[in-house]
Amino acid sequence: MAVFLHHHDLPDDLDLGTSVAIDTETMGLNPHRDRLCLVQLSDGNGDAHLVKIARDRQPAPRLQALLGDPAVTKLFHFARFDLASLSYSFGPVAGPVYCTKIASKLCRTYTDRHGLKDLCHELLSVEISKQQQSSDWGAETLSRAQQDYAASDVLYLHRLREKLDMMLAREGRAEMAAACFAFLMTRATMDLTGFEDLDIFHH
Ligand code: MN
Repeated sequence: MAVFLHHHDLPDDLDLGTSVAIDTETMGLNPHRDRLCLVQLSDGNGDAHLVKIARDRQPAPRLQALLGDPAVTKLFHFARFDLASLSYSFGPVAGPVYCTKIASKLCRTYTDRHGLKDLCHELLSVEISKQQQSSDWGAETLSRAQQDYAASDVLYLHRLREKLDMMLAREGRAEMAAACFAFLMTRATMDLTGFEDLDIFHH
């Protein structure tokens, strides 16, 4: 297992395959105010690639191509936020989306604990730390602890998907989950358009 730190864009000799786990770290929760600082990616085979995004963002043609590739499935935990922050900076994200948080909410109805830490603990017996979650991701130099934390947010999503897919199938909710995933890019766009706190399905 290795963590690779890149600047501005992915390297050009990297092939992450057709199913990529992605996470983002930002200066905060408002994409209009808080810039994107880091994009983490993993193909699920134990390595994580971190792309540091500078305050004066440089062109990132390879990262953008991956995000826009309709043949690449994107795995997230809480895709709604990552899709908003990524599409705000790089344009719409294409291809199938999978969200482990939504999958968990649809099949693990026996608990209200749907954090990544909770899922890794229960489904994989892996303990991850959330200590660096609210650290300064805009810093010039990211600490070892920050890099390891950022990597841990993408390293387990493929394995979690396998477990959650089995549970979704068992509970007869795979189709409902797929429909929710298909709506996620629209949900993220609505967040960016000013509909973030409005439930349009509510009476
Ligand atoms: Mn994260």
